[in-house]
Parts: sequence; structure tokens; C-alpha cells
Amino acid sequence: PTIASDESSSIYEPQRVVIIGAGPVGALAALYFAKGGWQVTVYELRGDLRNPENRSLNFTKSINLAISERGVNGIRTVDPELTETILEAAIPMNGRMIHDIAGKQSSQRYDVHGRFIRSIDRSYLNGALLDQLEQMSNVELKFNHNLKRLALEKSEATFEKRLGSGEVETVRVNADLFIGADGAHSQTRYHMMKYVRLNFSQEYIDSLWCEFHLPPHPTTGEFQLDPNHLHIWPRQTFMFIALPNMDKSFTCTLFMPEDMFKDIVGPEALLKFFLTEFPDVVPLIGEENLIGDYLKNQKLPLISVKCTPYHYRNKCVIIGDAAHAMVPFYGQGMNCGFEDVRVLWDHINSTDSLTEGLNSYTLERQKDLHVINDLAMNNYVEMRSSVTSRTYLMKKNFQEF
Ligand code: FAD
Repeated sequence: PTIASDESSSIYEPQRVVIIGAGPVGALAALYFAKGGWQVTVYELRGDLRNPENRSLNFTKSINLAISERGVNGIRTVDPELTETILEAAIPMNGRMIHDIAGKQSSQRYDVHGRFIRSIDRSYLNGALLDQLEQMSNVELKFNHNLKRLALEKSEATFEKRLGSGEVETVRVNADLFIGADGAHSQTRYHMMKYVRLNFSQEYIDSLWCEFHLPPHPTTGEFQLDPNHLHIWPRQTFMFIALPNMDKSFTCTLFMPEDMFKDIVGPEALLKFFLTEFPDVVPLIGEENLIGDYLKNQKLPLISVKCTPYHYRNKCVIIGDAAHAMVPFYGQGMNCGFEDVRVLWDHINSTDSLTEGLNSYTLERQKDLHVINDLAMNNYVEMRSSVTSRTYLMKKNFQEF
């Protein structure tokens, strides 16, 4: 394949793409381009997440997440068989289960037609995509490569490769197209800003999140809560949620303002807080594990990013969190990233000019992504408080029955 020197040229052939980031969105993008006949190289900052030793390096990510039809469709369009394999390891969640302070549970179905979302292990999903890529002769996966520079005028990226000895080696690569799927703090986006008038905003919300492990029942080995619900303990300004795992445990997350986290210092304060706010959770997790998880696990921030455009000429495009990190309350961050890939691929293939394909991608995608970003922010209020209001419940019942 040749690099078209004239970007307005309509002679456009499948060429060489470099993808920065082997997270779920970068891995799916690699699959689309590889199946479309491109030469694909994926450069990832961290070690291979399929190696358990590297798992702890990706400490900033939730253990499981909700995948919806938006995301499933992104995988199914390129690989129906892989989709089936992946979904075998996912647990349907038909609705929310609201836990009030007295421990009463009430189910709110998601859909009148019985459609549902699914809980899936993030590493499993990401690993399944990487496994698929590894079998393709036109794909190379390069781990421990940190993007340091993008010189788009000469179509060149510079990476720092981390060697076993701890030293680093500089690696320069050329490509016809660079795809930045390198997450909320994207270096691709940062470098692309030097070439295009990119409008950009970011916002940290006041809440942090912290994960807890709710194990299977100690004697029966069964789920301790209904596995086919996304469980929520809404408490107005903060909330606790739980998503099921295949091993019959749940991964729980406490979302709470930073000041409240700061006030809970030490085991006693933590137990008092849980016994007051989430008394039914304490016996399920166990006092010792609750304290252990709280003290050991990080309290991590939540960022929302909006920008536009998503591309520079026919040289570079950003997708996934790099383009639109959102707060997780709509469960759509990764799902939207998967949709980006499907929509991007459609645009690229509906014209024989890569520039035109990327232009029309930005034009179509921008409105949708800004809206879903706002919806995610609004759903924080819905999940932690509106779900308990009488008006909301009446409206919900009216919609569903
Ligand atoms: P990332 O997953 O961030 O992957 C980016 C990759 O790029 C990483 O592997 C990183 O190591 C690599 N990278 C970074 N910098 C460089 C560099 N300089 N050079 C090379 N590589 C680099 N989404 C949902 O759809 N459903 C949910 O239920 C859901 N729940 C969530 C719960 C929480 C608590 C949080 C925080 C997020 C949740 N999300 C959810 C959002 C979801 O995690 C993200 O949208 C998704 O991970 C984005 O995928 P990505 O591949 O774009 O980016």
C-alpha cells in the first residue's frame, strides 16, 4: 500500500493504521480495520492484561461493567461468532433493584419488552478481543509502549518502549492513519490539538468511587443477591451499587463526595457509616472484608470530557474515552466507544476519500456524543436520588404497565 501524498486524492486504498491504546475500544477498532484488510499495529502503554501479573497495573478501572445493545452491536457487526462467545460470560440484568435503608428491595424493570443489559468482566472482554486479534496475520500487538509524540506532518509517532531492565528505548513508526484510543487522558488528543483547532472541556465531579467485593454465600456458594439485577442503594448525595460476576460474587462500588470519604477515617467510622446507611450490606460483605477493601482500595476520581472535532485531516482520529470520557452513571462509556468504532468504519467505507470519511464522522458523531455525555451526568442524580421519589415511581409504573 502507498501513502497518498495528496490528501484530497480520491485514490484511497486500505493502508497501515497505528492504534494507540489496547483497551476495549482500541482492541475493537483493531478488529474492524484488520478484518477490513488494513495492516494494524496496536501500541499499548501497559503490559498485556491477559497476564495476571499485569492486572494490578490497570488499577484505575472497574472490575466489571454493564454492556448494552449499543456495545453488543459494535462487536456483532464485525464478528458475530465472537459476540456469542463473549455474551456466554455475561449476566443479564433485567432491571434495577432498589435497596431502601430498612433493607426492603424493590425491582424496577428496564424495559417493558423484557430487554436487558448485561454485566461482564472488563478484563475478560478486553482479553477476548486481544485473543481474536492475535490470531490475525495482519495485526501486531505491542505492549509497554508509551506514546510520547505525534508528528502528523510526517505521519510519525514516537513511543517509549519499556524494557525488562527498566530502561526505555525510543521507537518511531509511520502510518497512514493514527487512531487514538488511549483513554480519558489521551496523549493522542493532546498532540492532535497542535494541528487542529480542537475545542476541549473537562470536568471532575465532586464524587469519588471505591470498590468492594461481595463474595458468594460462604456455605452454599450461591449469589447472595438476585444476580439478574443491577443493585442500587440510593442515598440522595451518595450511593452504593452492585453488579454480578460469573463466580457468583458481586463487585460493588461506593460513589460519594470526597469530603464524606475524608470524614470516614479508620475501621470504626467505616462500620458506623455502613451500619447507618447500608445495614443490609454489612453481613453480605462481612465486617472484616468491608474494612479491608475500604482501607486497601483507592478512592478514584470521575472525569467528563467533551471535545470536537475528533480528527485531523486524513491523519488522525480519536475514539472512546479519548474523545468523550463520561461519568459512569449511564453505563455507556465503553458502549459508546464500541459504537464509535462501528460508525467510524461506516463513514470511512462510504467514501473513497479518507478525509471525507473522517470529516463526516466528526459531523455526525459530535451531537450524539455531547448528548450522551450530558445524559450520563443527569443519570447520577437519577440513580442516587430520583429513583426513590414517588413521582418517579408513579411515572415509571405508568410507562411499564
Ligand atoms: P480505556 O479503557 O481507558 O483504555 C485506554 C488504553 O490506552 C489503556 O489500556 C491505557 O493503558 C492505554 N494508554 C493510555 N495512554 C497511553 C499512551 N500514552 N500510549 C499507549 N497507550 C496508552 N462503561 C460502560 O459502557 N458500562 C459501564 O457499566 C461502565 N462502568 C464504569 C464504572 C466505572 C467506575 C468507571 C470509572 C467507568 C465505567 N465505564 C463504563 C466507562 C468505561 O470504563 C470506559 O468508557 C472504557 O474503559 C473506555 O474504553 P477505552 O478503550 O476508550 O479507554
